[in-house]
Amino acid sequence: MFKNKALFLDRDGVVNVDYGYVHKKEDFHFIDGIFSLAAAALREGFLIIIVTNQAGIGRGYYTEAQFHELMDWVKDEFRRRGAAVHAVYFCPCHPTRGIGRYRRESPFRKPAPGMLLQAAADHDIDLEASLMVGDALTDMEAGRAAGVGRLFYLTPERDAPAAPPPPGVVVVRSLAEVEARLHDADESRGDA
Ligand SMILES: [Mg+2]
Repeated sequence: MFKNKALFLDRDGVVNVDYGYVHKKEDFHFIDGIFSLAAAALREGFLIIIVTNQAGIGRGYYTEAQFHELMDWVKDEFRRRGAAVHAVYFCPCHPTRGIGRYRRESPFRKPAPGMLLQAAADHDIDLEASLMVGDALTDMEAGRAAGVGRLFYLTPERDAPAAPPPPGVVVVRSLAEVEARLHDADESRGDA
């Protein structure tokens, strides 16, 4: 059976500079290499899917409507550069800081794999053939738990990881490095 493969991208710290609870266009600064990576992945047949914890919604810093408005603009920016984003998944909940209905444990909040599993079900994705790029170990945990084949941990040079990365996780220093490795199909399989 034909199945899709996806490039899963965390948002804050991968797509845009993470200033904390970014929710305005003027604070949304794209990270170097993100459009090039997405366009290259698209050419290689990957669906581009953003998976992002957005506890700022649950905390009441901004609304779901504001989030969607911002992401519509983000998707336009990708599309204009030949790198259409296929889908965006977000989790607005926070187990202790959420307000009202947002205060709860959610199977969609990373490090839980819910967003990835939902995306796989919605878009017929072969997770083992897919990639995940994140700048937090919780991204790597979510990817691992979902069975994503290759996990890229984006950590700038100045932030040397305090501990060695978990097995099967590839440390990269830039998005260009991920792009250069799109082809290395089997580099991290089997050593996890
Ligand atoms: Mg992040």
